[in-house]
Amino acid sequence: MFEKVSTALDFQAREREVIKFWNENNIFKKSMDQRAGADVWTFFDGPPTANGKPHIGHIETRALKDLFPRYWTMKGKSVTRKAGWDTHGLPVELEVEKALGLDGKEQIEAYGIEPFIKKCKESVWKYKGEWERMSERVGYWADMENPYITYDNDYIESEWWSLKKIAEKGLLYKGHKVVPYCPRCGTALSSHEVSQGYKEVKERSAVVRFKVKDQDNTYIYAWTTTPWTLPSNVALCVNPDETYARFDYDGRTIIMGDALIEKVLGEGVQVCNKITFPGIELKGLRYEPLFDFQYEAIKGVDNEKNAWTVVCDDYVTMTDGTGVVHQAPAFGEDDARVGRENHIPFLQLVNARGEMTAVTRWAGVFVKKADPMILEDLEKEGKLVSAPYFTHDYPFCWRCDTPLIYYARSTWFIRMTALRDNLLKNNNTVNWYPDNIREGRFGNFLENVIDWGLSRERYWGTCASAARSTWSAPGRSFGSWATSTASPCRRTSSCTGPTSTP
Ligand SMILES: [Zn+2]
Repeated sequence: MFEKVSTALDFQAREREVIKFWNENNIFKKSMDQRAGADVWTFFDGPPTANGKPHIGHIETRALKDLFPRYWTMKGKSVTRKAGWDTHGLPVELEVEKALGLDGKEQIEAYGIEPFIKKCKESVWKYKGEWERMSERVGYWADMENPYITYDNDYIESEWWSLKKIAEKGLLYKGHKVVPYCPRCGTALSSHEVSQGYKEVKERSAVVRFKVKDQDNTYIYAWTTTPWTLPSNVALCVNPDETYARFDYDGRTIIMGDALIEKVLGEGVQVCNKITFPGIELKGLRYEPLFDFQYEAIKGVDNEKNAWTVVCDDYVTMTDGTGVVHQAPAFGEDDARVGRENHIPFLQLVNARGEMTAVTRWAGVFVKKADPMILEDLEKEGKLVSAPYFTHDYPFCWRCDTPLIYYARSTWFIRMTALRDNLLKNNNTVNWYPDNIREGRFGNFLENVIDWGLSRERYWGTCASAARSTWSAPGRSFGSWATSTASPCRRTSSCTGPTSTP
């Protein structure tokens, strides 16, 4: 009895029979031929990477993507279904690096870029067979015989063509922007990549005293969660509308946010001669840099004379720290903006490998390792008020597990912000299932769209997100643009960094 039932319900056997029938009778080709000359509906598959094995998630996307071409074919359209292969990007490089026993960009360059990319090109077809087997087995119909391949010159030319069109529209620009950056991979990461690597870490922050210039024994207290950015400090920022205080305590005159005195100096602390005033009154106040080598480092930098000045901006809050935010425009998005707006010089005393530069006392030390050394030196010199531990979510490279740093790079951008209204308008014409995605997840993503940093500073081709968005494939929903403003997580109130992305 059981045997009979199980034979009748052997789905696998049935499926194999159907596939066999399709293959023997050229059904896919026939379904195309029968509709030759009909209205065209085009589908370019978002290309998978064939140097990784297909997994269960790919089966879901293949099945879903197969629905639309089949539906439109049944409605009588001629549906071009072009398969694609994404052959480029960091994952390929990392595989090859591992295989060759190389570690980082310097070793790749010593090995030679030409032979390196040759190895990359060879490695990309590793699991092509498994991809083809999986695609056939789940009944996915696409033209796999003539796929588009991202390393083909035809394809690369199309990318350059789109980039040229974008440039002609004035939407391409080169900027200096703070980006989430992996110092080991030597590349900026998209916010989507960043969102994949958050871990909760416990680190030491620092409340530091900056000596006010030409005022005896008077100090501004500022807070940072990244002590390694202090050598690159060029300004302090206060909120113009919040209340600040100047008072005497423990033999010093101190300036800081009024609301945070107890939080910083201890509950019930008794201070003397306190006066309060709005932050705007601190604007233009000059102070001395924390380290002598900063005088040397600033020489010849644009706006050099404006270094170490108090500036105002309303992004500063009274929720954490001291109400005074240390500014290092090379390592924070807000800092970079405030620096630009106030003509503050730009100091970047960390190299592209994430090490302190030679001008500092900690030359060659990785930033995170430099943190305790910097705190120790500040302590010795009487410039450290406290170094409380705090817990926050910090991003790590999803590929190599190195802590990311926020780092100013010269980068090419596509001005997505200029397209926001148009994107929103078009989004309203899309048939979304479920309906709430239009205003919700995708609508929010478009509302908050930021300029798209394209540069990757790697060797093997363009990034997949650039490749994919070039093809406007019907049925594709989410692009891979940066979707949230990455928070440098240095002293913000929530300290959670970017939210997750679609
Ligand atoms: Zn990395």
